Amino acid sequence: MINVDRLVQTFTALVEIDNPSGQEQAMAQAVIRLLSERGLAPQQDAKGNVIARLPAEGPPLLLSAHLDSVAPAVGKRAVVDGEVIRSAGDTVLGADDLAGVSAILEAIQATQERGNSHRAAEIVFSVEEEVGLRGVRALDFSLLSARQGVALDLNGEVGGICISAPAHDQITVTIRGKAAHAGVAPEKGVSAIVVAADAISRMPLGRIDAETTANIGTIEGGAARNIVPEQVKLVGEARSRDEAKLDRQTAAMRQAFEAAAERHGAQVDFQAERVYGPQKIAPDAPIVQVCQAAARRAGLEPYLTETGGGSDVNVFNMHGIEAVNLSIGYQEIHSTNEHIAIADLEKAARLIFALLEV
Ligand SMILES: [Zn+2]
Repeated sequence: MINVDRLVQTFTALVEIDNPSGQEQAMAQAVIRLLSERGLAPQQDAKGNVIARLPAEGPPLLLSAHLDSVAPAVGKRAVVDGEVIRSAGDTVLGADDLAGVSAILEAIQATQERGNSHRAAEIVFSVEEEVGLRGVRALDFSLLSARQGVALDLNGEVGGICISAPAHDQITVTIRGKAAHAGVAPEKGVSAIVVAADAISRMPLGRIDAETTANIGTIEGGAARNIVPEQVKLVGEARSRDEAKLDRQTAAMRQAFEAAAERHGAQVDFQAERVYGPQKIAPDAPIVQVCQAAARRAGLEPYLTETGGGSDVNVFNMHGIEAVNLSIGYQEIHSTNEHIAIADLEKAARLIFALLEV
């Protein structure tokens, strides 16, 4: 069964390893050592993702979590505060997603100790999840044969099974107007900032409908107080659980920029990249039933949920792996108040342990 002390020890030890996105090498080495000790023959692909195997009869289940944490993720310390583990207050804790990593490692060890037959597993610990799923987007999928999987990377009470997550377009726009002296000859200039403002004011943004959102997140441009600004660059995004709606939203944003540029005599360069596709799993899909049954065996109440954020499961589904994201109970992630109850860490490990039961 799950050894809570060992689980907390693994988690707090991992937390104290620096793991900003793109700098996961020390974290990867630590989990490779733990996986090797358990005889799981870990390997790293060219991107740095860690892949390992728990062999057994039958089709494997993919178990995944990510190795990076959002900033500030350097100098993290785990403080056990009664029933809860929090950061020392000056960094994130990194329960997102080291809680997932630790729960998987503990469940595997407990499964090996139980010694009965168990389900085969393929383990993926990805890098650079927090910066647009770059790790798993570059994952060497030829190393995997699983057709079903889970990620442990979702907020909410343990037992939550996320079956829907949006597709995501990243949008980068450069507007080029014409510089001129703002006091002497403003009529000779074309203000890129005015063009951007005109476009944004006519564009659908924010909550578009129940499954679609859009945002312009950053804007930078202009050269000086007294120069009509020649150039401005904007970065934004659009998301929808429905890819056709996402296509329409991104097209509407493009159209608003192009129309504004035309009205003012400016040039616009609009780039949209589909960073990942949607996750859309039927409520009665086999992977959902597998997770519901495992949750009940683990003494947890399963429930279905949806999210407005993407995760590695979006990419697994794009590669034909029917995958859901599971709640692990971490709280206030992406902040220095991030924390997790030891009981939730234990429940997450118990859920994975139950998933490996046959
Ligand atoms: Zn995460």
